[in-house]
Parts: sequence; C-alpha cells; structure tokens
Amino acid sequence: MKGRIHNFNAGPAVLPLPVLEEIQAELIDFKGSGMSITEVSHRSKWFEEVIEDAAVRIRRLLKLDKSFHVLYLQGGASLQFCMIPMNLLPEGHSADYVNTGTWATKAIKEARIQGKAVKVVASSEDKNFSYIPKGISFSSDAAYAHITSNNTIKGTQWVSFPDTDGVPLICDMSSDIMSRSIDVSPFGLIYAGAQKNLGPAGATLVIIREDMLERVPKELPTMLKYTTFVDHNSMFNTPPCFAVYTIQLVLKWLEETIGGLEKMEEVNREKAGLLYRAIDESEFYRGTAEKESRSVMNVTFRLPGEDLEKEFVQQALEHGLGGLKGHRSVGGCRASIYNASTLEAVKALVDFMDEFARKNG
Ligand SMILES: *Cc1c(COP(=O)(O)O)cnc(C)c1O
Repeated sequence: MKGRIHNFNAGPAVLPLPVLEEIQAELIDFKGSGMSITEVSHRSKWFEEVIEDAAVRIRRLLKLDKSFHVLYLQGGASLQFCMIPMNLLPEGHSADYVNTGTWATKAIKEARIQGKAVKVVASSEDKNFSYIPKGISFSSDAAYAHITSNNTIKGTQWVSFPDTDGVPLICDMSSDIMSRSIDVSPFGLIYAGAQKNLGPAGATLVIIREDMLERVPKELPTMLKYTTFVDHNSMFNTPPCFAVYTIQLVLKWLEETIGGLEKMEEVNREKAGLLYRAIDESEFYRGTAEKESRSVMNVTFRLPGEDLEKEFVQQALEHGLGGLKGHRSVGGCRASIYNASTLEAVKALVDFMDEFARKNG
C-alpha cells in the first residue's frame, strides 16, 4: 500500500494492514454508535462486546480451559516483573529464574528489590546471552519458575518449554505470544506487553491460572493485586480501551484471515527460514544467536563493521525497509518479523541484503 514501508521495528511494531484499515473505517462511527470506540464508556455494550470477543478468541487460540483468567493490565510487561513476586512469591518461599538476557535480568532485579528469595537456576550470560540453557534442574519446592520465551534483544527463543515437574511456569511471552501453538498446561501465569505481537502499547495481557490466586496477599494495594482484575473482569477501573479493541481485531485477523496458530507458526517459520538462510549462506552477515536457540521473531545479525551496519540500516530505509537497527544495548542489526510482518516484506529484505552484500562484501 502506498506510503507504507516494510516495518521491522521491535516494538511497538507492525500491525496487520487489514486491522489498520478496519480501525480507520470504524473510527468515526463505531457500529452505529455515532462515536469512536475511544469515546464510549468502557461499561457500554459496545466496549463490553469488544472485550468479551477478545477473551473468547484468546481462549480459543490458546486452548485455555476454565481454570485460566484472561486479564488486561497497564504498566507494560515491566510492571509484571514486580507484580509477579509481589503476588505469587510468599514469605519463606523461593522462586527459580532463568536468565536469558535483558528482560529476564530485569525480572530478577525487580523480585530482589522486594527482598524476595530468588534462585537463578541457569543463565546464558557467559556467552552474552546467545543461547538458551539446557538440562536445567529446577527446585522441586520453588513457588514458581520464571522464563522469558523469546529474548527480543538477543534474538533467542525457547524451542520447547522446560519440564519443571509440576512447579508452575511463569513466562514473559511479550515478543512471541500467539506466534505458535503451545500447550498451556504447565503455566501458572503468562504475560505479554501487547505492542509486539498483539496490538498497540498500553495493554498487557495476563493469563493466570485460578490456583495461583490463592497466594495473593490481602494487604497488597488494590491496583497491584491480580484478584482485583479477576474479580472485576479487568474493569475495576478504566481499562486501556483502544488497545483492547485493537487486540480484538488482531485476534480476529489471526483466526479468520490467517487461520489460527498452527498456520501462523508455519508462516513465521518460513519467514525466519528465509532470513537465516540468507545470513548463513553469506560470508558477509553473521548471526549472533547460536543456531539451535535462534528466534523465529527477532533475527539478530552483524555486518563486518559498525560503519557498514550504519550504512545498511540507512540504505535499507531508503529502500522502504525500516526498523533494522539492533537494540541500543547490543548494536548490530535486528529484523523483527512478528506475526503481522509479511512474507513479502521478508523477501524484500532478503533481496536487499543480497544486493548490499554484493556491493560491499
Ligand atoms: C518489550 C519487552 C518487555 C518490556 O515491555 P514493556 O511493555 O515496555 O514494559 C518485556 N519483556 C520482553 C520479552 C519484551 O520483549
């Protein structure tokens, strides 16, 4: 579509074009209300239908049974770093954490700030977080085990989830939620900031299993307790309405246009496969993550020099390919290829990479 670029931003990130068009079409008058969805009461039938439909779709896509609650919170995934230990790690207990990079490190820090007992049972820091640790032994008496399913900055991803032998898994899925089908049964809580794979910034999806709620201390401030959001269906106060509405449209697109998570996963694998092959077949580009830990969502790579990397990012943009600069903490290049990034966009990037390597290699 004229004026739009191929957007490889890490987050906020590309949204499906049909979703943007639908928002545009109903922005002035949402379903005959004479108002936009951002202007109606969150207690109106219009918004209630939106939040309800989103929940139904999330349950269907992730095959959640009744024991899971679907919630929307604010404060980003970052607020979850402190809310999780605050709510779910009682005095006298300890939690296991796996440190696979920047976001996992932050999650550990926020638990420790509260004086909570945290055991880092595995870390890939020894190799600059370029891999996902294997053969981890989790503590059988841990309150929970925390992992980050996809490491947005380092470009690594858990291919399968670790066996914690009944200890509830808690997972930051901010950058790969809904990118593949998963078995939710080992998870006590899944959380994801919406702005990578679900919608705009402003909402954090939290999926929490009923039994986890028994641990929530009564004395916590109301807005920091999961039970508040469960008891009021995420509407104790005004929820992030526009973000929830966009999420609902993205989920509808996922189900009705893409055809569900198995299909989405296939497309995502094809996209990542194209990019990694372009990297592996060239002498010019070098992937930064170890092969068996590579992310299907964030493809991180280096060029032979920092000046060339700058030039690459600049020239790519001139070719309509945006957002390829690596995170400021690691440098290099990164192509984020979330659900909404198309095969066409990835092909255009691969063509550009081949051409750039030919000219500068
Ligand atoms: C982006 C990201 C975060 C931070 O999300 P905010 O919503 O900005 O707080 C946390 N974890 C992961 C894995 C991320 O990709």
